[in-house]
Amino acid sequence: MRSILVVGAGQAGLHLALGLLQKGYDVTVVGNRTAEGIRDGRVMSGQAMFGTAQACEQALGLDWWTGECPPIDGIELSVPAPDGRSRALHWSARLHAPARSVDQRIKMPAWMAEVERLGGKFLLHDASPADLERYAERHDLVLVAAGKGQIASLFERDAARSPYQAPQRALAVTYVHGLRPREEHSAVCFNLIPGVGEYFVFPALTRTGPCEIMVFEGVPGGPMDCWGDVRGPAEHLARSREILERFLPWEAERCDGIELTDAGGVLTGRFAPTVRHPVAVLPSGRPVLGVADVLVLNDPITGQGSNNAAKCADVYLRAIVERGAQPFDAAWMRQTFERFWSQAQHVTSWTNTLLAPAQPHHLALLGAAGQVPEIASRFVNGFDDPADYGDWFLDAGKAEAYLSRVAA
Ligand SMILES: Cc1cc2nc3c(=O)[nH]c(=O)nc-3n(C[C@H](O)[C@H](O)[C@H](O)COP(=O)(O)OP(=O)(O)OC[C@H]3O[C@@H](n4cnc5c(N)ncnc54)[C@H](O)[C@@H]3O)c2cc1C
Repeated sequence: MRSILVVGAGQAGLHLALGLLQKGYDVTVVGNRTAEGIRDGRVMSGQAMFGTAQACEQALGLDWWTGECPPIDGIELSVPAPDGRSRALHWSARLHAPARSVDQRIKMPAWMAEVERLGGKFLLHDASPADLERYAERHDLVLVAAGKGQIASLFERDAARSPYQAPQRALAVTYVHGLRPREEHSAVCFNLIPGVGEYFVFPALTRTGPCEIMVFEGVPGGPMDCWGDVRGPAEHLARSREILERFLPWEAERCDGIELTDAGGVLTGRFAPTVRHPVAVLPSGRPVLGVADVLVLNDPITGQGSNNAAKCADVYLRAIVERGAQPFDAAWMRQTFERFWSQAQHVTSWTNTLLAPAQPHHLALLGAAGQVPEIASRFVNGFDDPADYGDWFLDAGKAEAYLSRVAA
């Protein structure tokens, strides 16, 4: 039986570990937090996942919360008018398949228990580079799925694929109960405030039941980059309200009755979007392969990281099985990553585009989407298939051609 070790008990690492266990591999997962520590700790993400990523989980029978988790049926876009009180742009469209967000504090402990139930081993340890040497000596394949963990820096930054050197947004997340639901259908309500940042809010499932997750993306140094002096969860909630009252009154109106889901329902941080080379060669010459966020770390502005993690796990799982008894050498690792990158590159280019100031053709398309439902629907469903944006949204020439075709 081939023996595989996964560093990191997160979205990608556990998905992969469970898939491998189902296929009869000998699997060890090394995680630096206990299941209880994760469950009782702080939130880690917004983790909204669209149809394709959910289908990857479903294929392994891991979609255990589909019935309980409130569906996200569409996406709404709003841009404030110059008066700051009304909206210059406001439209929505339905997703072909609902998105869902299951708090990682629920999902990861349950998946960790499943690893052990299926006969996998779980080691509680904060893996170091020296540990990777030991693991690589004893296992046929070592996968590093440690997310934004320090150990990711073993993988060299790929400058050609990483246009940004510094964080592009100051991030904050607030999990709340009591937010007034959107009337028409549930949605990610995505608000784009030029020069200030973005705010999006959507239904999710947390430890205390259905909730709404508020995500703030502040342009560094701007008025939404305002979390440094916040002391404690109550002040975090108050700051969340202040931002909405100042910039997005229609969102503030929905928040009269909000309260935090729990004291751990808040998060702040920032990181530079980074793509890394897929293989780290250890001093012994043995290669290890990075997974998901370790290699393709995007800003959460487009809500794609967990989606990428599920898709990466899916691609790697197939590649490992197809490899049969042949060695997992560095060439195979690079090919395997390129299979994932063939999808992930579209996520990265679209996400990096949205981090930059909007170009005239983006504004023309988003403006036209308010009148032409086909455009709104295409934009919204691109969240599940970001490769599509390359055909009509990202490039000015293609955008113009698409607009004139749709207008005709
Ligand atoms: C504010 C915010 C909002 C987000 N919203 C969304 C969203 O709406 N939709 C979406 O798809 N994505 C979203 N994401 C991104 C998403 O959460 C991540 O991209 C996804 O969790 C990545 O999965 P992963 O398995 O690569 O890493 P992770 O899920 O981060 O898992 C890594 C695991 O490795 C462990 N680890 C780290 N170092 C070590 C070590 N040395 N030894 C052992 N274990 C280690 C960590 O503790 C963790 O458990 C958001 C992220 C943020 C920050």
